[in-house]
Amino acid sequence: MADYVKMWENLGMDLETHDLLCQVLPTAVGDVFMTQENRPKAMDFWDLVISEVHGIRPAELIEEQKKGRKVFGTFCVYVPDEVVIAANGIVTGLCGGSQFWVPGGEAVLPKNTCPLIKASVGARLGRTCPFFRIADMYVGETTCDGKKKAYEILGKDVPMYVMDVPQMKREKDILKWKEEIAEFAKKVEEFTGNEITVEKLADAIRLVNEKRRALKRVYDARKSENVPISGRDALLMMQISFFDDPARCAQMCNRLADELEQRNRDGVSVVPAGTKRILLTGTPLAVPNWKLHNIIETSGAVVVCEEMCTGTRYFENEVDETGTTLDEQFMALSRRYMKNNCACFTPNEGRIDDILRLAKEYKADGVIDCSLKFCNLYDIEKKAVSEALKQAGIPVLSLETDYEDSDAEQLRTRIEAFVEMLNN
Ligand code: SF4
Ligand code: SF4
Repeated sequence: MADYVKMWENLGMDLETHDLLCQVLPTAVGDVFMTQENRPKAMDFWDLVISEVHGIRPAELIEEQKKGRKVFGTFCVYVPDEVVIAANGIVTGLCGGSQFWVPGGEAVLPKNTCPLIKASVGARLGRTCPFFRIADMYVGETTCDGKKKAYEILGKDVPMYVMDVPQMKREKDILKWKEEIAEFAKKVEEFTGNEITVEKLADAIRLVNEKRRALKRVYDARKSENVPISGRDALLMMQISFFDDPARCAQMCNRLADELEQRNRDGVSVVPAGTKRILLTGTPLAVPNWKLHNIIETSGAVVVCEEMCTGTRYFENEVDETGTTLDEQFMALSRRYMKNNCACFTPNEGRIDDILRLAKEYKADGVIDCSLKFCNLYDIEKKAVSEALKQAGIPVLSLETDYEDSDAEQLRTRIEAFVEMLNN
Protein backbone atom coordinates (compact mmCIF):
# COMPACT_ATOMS: atom_id res chain seq x y z
CA MET A 1 0.00 0.00 0.00
CA ALA A 2 1.30 3.44 -0.89
CA ASP A 3 2.08 5.78 1.99
CA TYR A 4 -0.80 8.22 2.36
CA VAL A 5 -0.04 9.27 5.95
CA LYS A 6 1.20 12.72 4.96
CA MET A 7 -1.93 13.29 2.86
CA TRP A 8 -4.21 12.25 5.74
CA GLU A 9 -2.25 14.49 8.11
CA ASN A 10 -2.64 17.45 5.75
CA LEU A 11 -6.36 16.76 5.66
CA GLY A 12 -6.47 17.26 9.43
CA MET A 13 -7.49 13.65 10.07
CA ASP A 14 -7.33 11.90 13.42
CA LEU A 15 -4.57 9.49 12.41
CA GLU A 16 -4.63 7.35 15.53
CA THR A 17 -8.32 6.54 15.28
CA HIS A 18 -8.10 6.25 11.51
CA ASP A 19 -5.42 3.56 11.96
CA LEU A 20 -7.98 1.44 13.80
CA LEU A 21 -10.32 1.66 10.82
CA CYS A 22 -7.50 0.79 8.42
CA GLN A 23 -6.81 -2.32 10.50
CA VAL A 24 -10.32 -3.78 10.21
CA LEU A 25 -11.08 -2.98 6.58
CA PRO A 26 -8.64 -5.40 4.89
CA THR A 27 -10.03 -8.30 6.97
CA ALA A 28 -13.58 -7.37 5.99
CA VAL A 29 -12.62 -7.17 2.30
CA GLY A 30 -10.80 -10.49 2.55
CA ASP A 31 -13.71 -12.23 4.27
CA VAL A 32 -16.44 -10.90 1.99
CA PHE A 33 -14.79 -10.76 -1.43
CA MET A 34 -11.60 -12.79 -1.61
CA THR A 35 -13.26 -15.97 -0.33
CA GLN A 36 -15.39 -16.11 -3.50
CA GLU A 37 -14.45 -18.40 -6.35
CA ASN A 38 -14.39 -17.72 -10.07
CA ARG A 39 -14.82 -13.96 -9.81
CA PRO A 40 -14.81 -11.92 -13.03
CA LYS A 41 -11.26 -10.82 -13.86
CA ALA A 42 -12.47 -7.25 -14.43
CA MET A 43 -13.16 -7.00 -10.69
CA ASP A 44 -9.41 -6.37 -10.33
CA PHE A 45 -10.12 -2.64 -10.75
CA TRP A 46 -12.59 -2.50 -7.84
CA ASP A 47 -10.40 -4.78 -5.72
CA LEU A 48 -7.58 -2.29 -6.12
CA VAL A 49 -9.78 0.71 -5.36
CA ILE A 50 -11.25 -0.88 -2.22
CA SER A 51 -7.84 -2.07 -1.02
CA GLU A 52 -6.73 1.58 -0.93
CA VAL A 53 -10.11 3.21 -0.60
CA HIS A 54 -8.80 6.04 1.57
CA GLY A 55 -5.77 6.57 -0.66
CA ILE A 56 -6.14 6.30 -4.41
CA ARG A 57 -9.25 8.36 -5.12
CA PRO A 58 -8.65 10.92 -2.33
CA ALA A 59 -5.17 11.56 -3.77
CA GLU A 60 -6.71 12.12 -7.21
CA LEU A 61 -9.28 14.53 -5.80
CA ILE A 62 -6.57 16.53 -4.04
CA GLU A 63 -4.58 16.77 -7.29
CA GLU A 64 -7.68 18.14 -9.05
CA GLN A 65 -8.26 20.63 -6.23
CA LYS A 66 -4.70 21.90 -6.75
CA LYS A 67 -5.74 22.70 -10.33
CA GLY A 68 -8.57 24.81 -8.96
CA ARG A 69 -11.43 22.32 -9.22
CA LYS A 70 -13.99 22.09 -6.41
CA VAL A 71 -15.26 18.85 -4.88
CA PHE A 72 -18.93 18.52 -3.92
CA GLY A 73 -19.95 15.80 -1.47
CA THR A 74 -23.47 14.41 -1.84
CA PHE A 75 -25.70 12.06 0.15
CA CYS A 76 -28.57 11.22 -2.15
CA VAL A 77 -29.39 10.17 -5.70
CA TYR A 78 -31.68 13.19 -6.18
CA VAL A 79 -28.74 15.61 -6.37
CA PRO A 80 -27.94 16.06 -10.09
CA ASP A 81 -24.25 15.37 -10.71
CA GLU A 82 -24.59 16.88 -14.18
CA VAL A 83 -24.85 20.43 -12.80
CA VAL A 84 -21.61 20.10 -10.85
CA ILE A 85 -19.76 18.47 -13.74
CA ALA A 86 -20.91 21.23 -16.12
CA ALA A 87 -19.12 23.74 -13.88
CA ASN A 88 -15.94 21.63 -13.94
CA GLY A 89 -16.65 20.47 -10.40
CA ILE A 90 -16.29 16.91 -9.09
CA VAL A 91 -18.94 14.91 -7.23
CA THR A 92 -18.19 12.35 -4.58
CA GLY A 93 -20.65 10.29 -2.57
CA LEU A 94 -20.38 10.74 1.19
CA CYS A 95 -22.81 8.31 2.84
CA GLY A 96 -21.27 6.39 5.74
CA GLY A 97 -21.71 2.62 5.75
CA SER A 98 -19.57 1.53 8.71
CA GLN A 99 -20.40 0.89 12.36
CA PHE A 100 -16.98 2.40 13.10
CA TRP A 101 -18.45 5.90 12.65
CA VAL A 102 -21.78 5.34 14.43
CA PRO A 103 -20.65 6.20 18.03
CA GLY A 104 -19.28 9.52 16.75
CA GLY A 105 -22.70 10.27 15.26
CA GLU A 106 -24.44 9.21 18.46
CA ALA A 107 -22.42 11.82 20.35
CA VAL A 108 -24.49 14.55 18.68
CA LEU A 109 -27.61 12.74 17.41
CA PRO A 110 -30.27 10.71 19.20
CA LYS A 111 -29.45 6.98 19.28
CA ASN A 112 -32.71 6.22 17.48
CA THR A 113 -31.44 7.84 14.26
CA CYS A 114 -30.70 5.55 11.31
CA PRO A 115 -27.12 4.25 11.19
CA LEU A 116 -26.48 5.77 7.77
CA ILE A 117 -27.03 9.25 9.15
CA LYS A 118 -25.13 8.57 12.36
CA ALA A 119 -22.18 7.11 10.45
CA SER A 120 -22.10 10.03 8.02
CA VAL A 121 -22.03 12.59 10.81
CA GLY A 122 -19.53 10.50 12.78
CA ALA A 123 -17.22 10.22 9.78
CA ARG A 124 -17.08 14.01 9.44
CA LEU A 125 -16.86 14.98 13.09
CA GLY A 126 -14.47 12.17 13.98
CA ARG A 127 -12.12 13.20 11.15
CA THR A 128 -11.55 9.61 10.06
CA CYS A 129 -12.71 9.68 6.43
CA PRO A 130 -10.66 11.55 3.81
CA PHE A 131 -13.67 12.05 1.49
CA PHE A 132 -15.52 13.92 4.24
CA ARG A 133 -12.40 16.08 4.74
CA ILE A 134 -11.74 16.75 1.06
CA ALA A 135 -15.20 17.89 -0.07
CA ASP A 136 -15.22 21.69 -0.40
CA MET A 137 -18.99 21.82 -0.13
CA TYR A 138 -21.63 19.35 1.03
CA VAL A 139 -24.91 19.16 -0.86
CA GLY A 140 -27.80 17.88 1.22
CA GLU A 141 -31.47 17.46 0.39
CA THR A 142 -34.77 17.56 2.25
CA THR A 143 -35.57 13.87 1.89
CA CYS A 144 -36.00 12.33 5.35
CA ASP A 145 -36.26 14.23 8.64
CA GLY A 146 -33.11 12.69 10.09
CA LYS A 147 -31.00 13.89 7.20
CA LYS A 148 -32.48 17.38 7.30
CA LYS A 149 -31.50 17.77 10.95
CA ALA A 150 -28.09 16.15 10.42
CA TYR A 151 -27.33 18.71 7.71
CA GLU A 152 -27.83 21.48 10.27
CA ILE A 153 -25.13 19.87 12.41
CA LEU A 154 -22.77 19.26 9.49
CA GLY A 155 -23.41 22.78 8.21
CA LYS A 156 -21.70 24.19 11.30
CA ASP A 157 -18.50 22.40 10.31
CA VAL A 158 -18.41 22.68 6.52
CA PRO A 159 -20.09 24.77 3.75
CA MET A 160 -23.48 23.12 3.23
CA TYR A 161 -26.10 23.66 0.54
CA VAL A 162 -29.46 21.96 0.93
CA MET A 163 -31.77 21.27 -2.02
CA ASP A 164 -35.49 21.28 -1.28
CA VAL A 165 -36.83 18.00 -2.70
CA PRO A 166 -40.61 17.97 -3.27
CA GLN A 167 -42.60 15.30 -1.47
CA MET A 168 -45.03 14.55 -4.28
CA LYS A 169 -44.66 14.01 -8.02
CA ARG A 170 -47.32 16.17 -9.61
CA GLU A 171 -46.40 18.31 -12.62
CA LYS A 172 -46.07 21.34 -10.33
CA ASP A 173 -43.60 19.39 -8.18
CA ILE A 174 -41.51 18.55 -11.24
CA LEU A 175 -41.51 22.25 -12.15
CA LYS A 176 -40.53 23.12 -8.60
CA TRP A 177 -37.62 20.66 -8.71
CA LYS A 178 -36.52 22.22 -12.00
CA GLU A 179 -36.41 25.64 -10.29
CA GLU A 180 -34.47 24.10 -7.42
CA ILE A 181 -31.95 22.63 -9.87
CA ALA A 182 -31.61 26.04 -11.59
CA GLU A 183 -30.89 27.69 -8.23
CA PHE A 184 -28.39 24.98 -7.37
CA ALA A 185 -26.69 25.67 -10.70
CA LYS A 186 -26.28 29.34 -9.71
CA LYS A 187 -24.76 28.31 -6.40
CA VAL A 188 -22.38 25.91 -8.14
CA GLU A 189 -21.34 28.64 -10.62
CA GLU A 190 -20.67 31.03 -7.77
CA PHE A 191 -18.71 28.47 -5.75
CA THR A 192 -16.59 27.21 -8.65
CA GLY A 193 -16.27 30.54 -10.47
CA ASN A 194 -17.26 28.72 -13.69
CA GLU A 195 -20.24 29.49 -15.87
CA ILE A 196 -22.62 26.66 -16.77
CA THR A 197 -23.39 26.96 -20.47
CA VAL A 198 -25.82 24.93 -22.59
CA GLU A 199 -22.86 23.19 -24.25
CA LYS A 200 -21.17 22.30 -20.98
CA LEU A 201 -24.38 21.01 -19.46
CA ALA A 202 -25.12 19.00 -22.61
CA ASP A 203 -21.66 17.39 -22.33
CA ALA A 204 -22.24 16.61 -18.66
CA ILE A 205 -25.66 15.09 -19.39
CA ARG A 206 -24.12 12.89 -22.09
CA LEU A 207 -21.30 11.81 -19.77
CA VAL A 208 -23.57 10.81 -16.89
CA ASN A 209 -25.95 9.04 -19.29
CA GLU A 210 -22.98 7.09 -20.60
CA LYS A 211 -22.13 6.06 -17.06
CA ARG A 212 -25.78 5.02 -16.50
CA ARG A 213 -25.73 2.91 -19.67
CA ALA A 214 -22.53 1.16 -18.57
CA LEU A 215 -23.95 0.36 -15.14
CA LYS A 216 -27.12 -0.87 -16.81
CA ARG A 217 -25.10 -3.22 -19.04
CA VAL A 218 -23.62 -4.86 -15.95
CA TYR A 219 -27.07 -5.17 -14.40
CA ASP A 220 -28.58 -6.48 -17.63
CA ALA A 221 -26.00 -9.27 -17.63
CA ARG A 222 -27.35 -10.27 -14.20
CA LYS A 223 -30.77 -10.93 -15.73
CA SER A 224 -29.44 -14.07 -17.42
CA GLU A 225 -30.45 -17.55 -16.10
CA ASN A 226 -26.71 -17.91 -15.75
CA VAL A 227 -25.22 -15.94 -12.85
CA PRO A 228 -22.04 -14.29 -14.18
CA ILE A 229 -21.25 -12.19 -11.10
CA SER A 230 -22.08 -12.40 -7.41
CA GLY A 231 -24.27 -9.81 -5.74
CA ARG A 232 -21.33 -8.88 -3.53
CA ASP A 233 -19.13 -7.98 -6.49
CA ALA A 234 -21.92 -6.09 -8.24
CA LEU A 235 -22.60 -4.16 -5.04
CA LEU A 236 -18.93 -3.22 -4.65
CA MET A 237 -18.88 -1.94 -8.23
CA MET A 238 -22.04 0.07 -7.59
CA GLN A 239 -20.84 1.56 -4.30
CA ILE A 240 -17.55 2.72 -5.79
CA SER A 241 -19.30 4.27 -8.78
CA PHE A 242 -20.52 6.99 -6.40
CA PHE A 243 -16.91 8.02 -5.75
CA ASP A 244 -15.22 7.46 -9.07
CA ASP A 245 -14.57 9.69 -12.05
CA PRO A 246 -17.67 9.17 -14.26
CA ALA A 247 -15.78 8.55 -17.52
CA ARG A 248 -13.51 5.95 -15.90
CA CYS A 249 -16.50 4.42 -14.14
CA ALA A 250 -18.23 3.96 -17.52
CA GLN A 251 -15.09 2.51 -19.03
CA MET A 252 -14.55 0.01 -16.21
CA CYS A 253 -18.22 -1.00 -16.09
CA ASN A 254 -18.23 -1.58 -19.85
CA ARG A 255 -15.09 -3.70 -19.49
CA LEU A 256 -16.83 -5.73 -16.77
CA ALA A 257 -20.03 -5.98 -18.85
CA ASP A 258 -18.02 -7.34 -21.82
CA GLU A 259 -16.71 -10.12 -19.60
CA LEU A 260 -20.11 -10.87 -18.04
CA GLU A 261 -21.81 -11.04 -21.44
CA GLN A 262 -19.09 -13.46 -22.60
CA ARG A 263 -19.61 -15.52 -19.44
CA ASN A 264 -23.31 -15.70 -20.23
CA ARG A 265 -22.55 -16.90 -23.77
CA ASP A 266 -20.14 -19.53 -22.36
CA GLY A 267 -22.45 -20.53 -19.52
CA VAL A 268 -19.90 -19.54 -16.83
CA SER A 269 -21.71 -19.07 -13.54
CA VAL A 270 -20.44 -18.13 -10.06
CA VAL A 271 -23.04 -20.35 -8.38
CA PRO A 272 -24.34 -23.87 -9.03
CA ALA A 273 -27.37 -24.16 -11.34
CA GLY A 274 -30.62 -23.82 -9.42
CA THR A 275 -29.25 -21.45 -6.75
CA LYS A 276 -32.16 -19.29 -5.64
CA ARG A 277 -32.11 -15.77 -7.02
CA ILE A 278 -32.87 -12.89 -4.65
CA LEU A 279 -33.96 -9.37 -5.44
CA LEU A 280 -32.97 -7.09 -2.59
CA THR A 281 -34.96 -3.92 -1.93
CA GLY A 282 -34.90 -1.28 0.79
CA THR A 283 -32.57 1.36 2.19
CA PRO A 284 -29.23 2.08 0.49
CA LEU A 285 -26.08 0.08 1.26
CA ALA A 286 -23.29 2.62 1.64
CA VAL A 287 -19.71 1.36 1.42
CA PRO A 288 -18.47 -0.71 3.33
CA ASN A 289 -21.88 -2.16 4.22
CA TRP A 290 -21.77 -5.65 2.68
CA LYS A 291 -23.42 -7.40 5.61
CA LEU A 292 -26.67 -8.51 4.01
CA HIS A 293 -25.23 -9.57 0.67
CA ASN A 294 -22.59 -11.58 2.48
CA ILE A 295 -25.12 -13.38 4.67
CA ILE A 296 -27.49 -14.11 1.76
CA GLU A 297 -24.71 -15.41 -0.46
CA THR A 298 -23.26 -17.62 2.24
CA SER A 299 -26.73 -19.02 2.99
CA GLY A 300 -27.21 -20.79 -0.34
CA ALA A 301 -28.76 -17.98 -2.42
CA VAL A 302 -27.46 -15.26 -4.74
CA VAL A 303 -28.42 -11.59 -5.06
CA VAL A 304 -29.25 -10.78 -8.68
CA CYS A 305 -30.56 -7.24 -8.33
CA GLU A 306 -30.78 -4.35 -5.84
CA GLU A 307 -33.87 -2.14 -6.07
CA MET A 308 -32.33 0.64 -4.05
CA CYS A 309 -30.29 3.81 -4.46
CA THR A 310 -27.10 1.75 -4.44
CA GLY A 311 -28.67 -0.23 -7.28
CA THR A 312 -31.18 0.29 -10.05
CA ARG A 313 -32.28 3.77 -8.92
CA TYR A 314 -28.80 5.09 -9.64
CA PHE A 315 -28.82 4.25 -13.33
CA GLU A 316 -32.37 3.62 -14.55
CA ASN A 317 -33.86 6.38 -16.75
CA GLU A 318 -31.58 8.59 -18.80
CA VAL A 319 -31.78 12.38 -19.03
CA ASP A 320 -33.21 13.61 -22.33
CA GLU A 321 -30.26 15.01 -24.30
CA THR A 322 -32.17 17.19 -26.75
CA GLY A 323 -32.57 20.37 -24.64
CA THR A 324 -31.22 23.48 -26.40
CA THR A 325 -31.61 25.98 -23.57
CA LEU A 326 -30.61 25.76 -19.92
CA ASP A 327 -34.26 25.91 -19.00
CA GLU A 328 -35.05 22.86 -21.15
CA GLN A 329 -32.03 21.01 -19.77
CA PHE A 330 -32.97 21.76 -16.15
CA MET A 331 -36.47 20.46 -16.94
CA ALA A 332 -35.03 17.30 -18.49
CA LEU A 333 -32.91 16.78 -15.38
CA SER A 334 -35.93 17.33 -13.15
CA ARG A 335 -38.02 14.83 -15.10
CA ARG A 336 -35.34 12.16 -14.87
CA TYR A 337 -34.49 12.62 -11.20
CA MET A 338 -38.14 12.75 -10.20
CA LYS A 339 -38.57 9.26 -11.65
CA ASN A 340 -36.61 7.92 -8.66
CA ASN A 341 -39.00 6.24 -6.28
CA CYS A 342 -37.74 6.96 -2.77
CA ALA A 343 -39.95 6.25 0.24
CA CYS A 344 -39.73 9.94 1.16
CA PHE A 345 -42.39 10.59 -1.53
CA THR A 346 -46.11 10.22 -1.12
CA PRO A 347 -47.71 8.33 -2.67
CA ASN A 348 -44.86 6.05 -3.71
CA GLU A 349 -46.60 3.31 -5.67
CA GLY A 350 -43.91 3.63 -8.34
CA ARG A 351 -41.52 1.76 -6.06
CA ILE A 352 -43.87 -1.20 -5.84
CA ASP A 353 -44.27 -1.21 -9.63
CA ASP A 354 -40.47 -1.16 -9.90
CA ILE A 355 -40.05 -4.08 -7.49
CA LEU A 356 -42.63 -6.20 -9.33
CA ARG A 357 -41.11 -5.34 -12.72
CA LEU A 358 -37.53 -5.97 -11.57
CA ALA A 359 -38.44 -9.26 -9.87
CA LYS A 360 -39.69 -10.45 -13.26
CA GLU A 361 -36.84 -9.00 -15.32
CA TYR A 362 -34.18 -10.52 -13.05
CA LYS A 363 -36.10 -13.80 -12.65
CA ALA A 364 -36.05 -13.49 -8.86
CA ASP A 365 -37.25 -16.51 -6.88
CA GLY A 366 -37.81 -14.33 -3.84
CA VAL A 367 -37.50 -10.77 -2.57
CA ILE A 368 -35.80 -9.59 0.61
CA ASP A 369 -37.00 -6.17 1.76
CA CYS A 370 -34.58 -4.81 4.32
CA SER A 371 -34.49 -1.40 5.96
CA LEU A 372 -32.00 0.16 8.28
CA LYS A 373 -33.09 0.43 11.89
CA PHE A 374 -34.94 3.68 12.66
CA CYS A 375 -35.74 4.36 9.01
CA ASN A 376 -39.48 4.79 9.41
CA LEU A 377 -40.08 5.60 5.75
CA TYR A 378 -38.87 2.29 4.36
CA ASP A 379 -40.09 0.38 7.38
CA ILE A 380 -43.66 1.59 6.89
CA GLU A 381 -43.56 0.79 3.17
CA LYS A 382 -42.73 -2.86 3.95
CA LYS A 383 -46.37 -3.76 4.44
CA ALA A 384 -47.44 -2.47 1.03
CA VAL A 385 -44.39 -4.06 -0.62
CA SER A 386 -45.06 -7.41 1.00
CA GLU A 387 -48.79 -7.36 0.13
CA ALA A 388 -48.09 -6.54 -3.52
CA LEU A 389 -45.48 -9.30 -3.78
CA LYS A 390 -47.71 -11.87 -2.12
CA GLN A 391 -50.48 -10.95 -4.52
CA ALA A 392 -48.07 -11.50 -7.42
CA GLY A 393 -47.09 -14.88 -5.97
CA ILE A 394 -43.52 -13.82 -5.18
CA PRO A 395 -42.21 -14.92 -1.76
CA VAL A 396 -40.92 -12.06 0.39
CA LEU A 397 -38.93 -11.74 3.58
CA SER A 398 -39.01 -8.43 5.47
CA LEU A 399 -36.00 -7.60 7.62
CA GLU A 400 -34.51 -4.77 9.62
CA THR A 401 -30.88 -4.38 10.57
CA ASP A 402 -28.12 -1.89 11.33
CA TYR A 403 -24.34 -1.83 10.92
CA GLU A 404 -23.57 -3.96 13.97
CA ASP A 405 -22.59 -7.61 13.73
CA SER A 406 -24.63 -8.59 16.77
CA ASP A 407 -27.73 -9.58 14.76
CA ALA A 408 -25.81 -11.43 12.03
CA GLU A 409 -26.62 -14.91 13.30
CA GLN A 410 -30.26 -14.04 13.81
CA LEU A 411 -30.43 -12.69 10.24
CA ARG A 412 -28.68 -15.80 8.95
CA THR A 413 -31.24 -18.05 10.62
CA ARG A 414 -34.14 -16.16 9.04
CA ILE A 415 -32.50 -15.96 5.61
CA GLU A 416 -31.55 -19.66 5.64
CA ALA A 417 -35.15 -20.55 6.50
CA PHE A 418 -36.36 -18.33 3.64
CA VAL A 419 -33.95 -19.93 1.16
CA GLU A 420 -34.98 -23.39 2.36
CA MET A 421 -38.60 -22.46 1.78
CA LEU A 422 -37.70 -21.29 -1.76
CA ASN A 423 -35.85 -24.55 -2.40
CA ASN A 424 -38.87 -26.57 -1.35
S1 SF4 B 1 -33.19 6.32 -0.03
FE1 SF4 B 1 -34.13 8.28 -0.58
S2 SF4 B 1 -33.07 9.75 0.72
FE2 SF4 B 1 -31.82 7.90 0.70
S3 SF4 B 1 -30.33 8.19 -0.98
FE3 SF4 B 1 -32.11 7.15 -1.80
S4 SF4 B 1 -33.39 8.77 -2.63
FE4 SF4 B 1 -31.97 9.73 -1.22
S1 SF4 C 1 -32.11 5.04 5.40
FE1 SF4 C 1 -34.08 6.11 5.81
S2 SF4 C 1 -33.70 7.31 7.68
FE2 SF4 C 1 -31.71 6.70 6.84
S3 SF4 C 1 -31.07 8.40 5.54
FE3 SF4 C 1 -32.14 6.96 4.22
S4 SF4 C 1 -34.28 7.62 4.19
FE4 SF4 C 1 -33.27 8.64 5.92
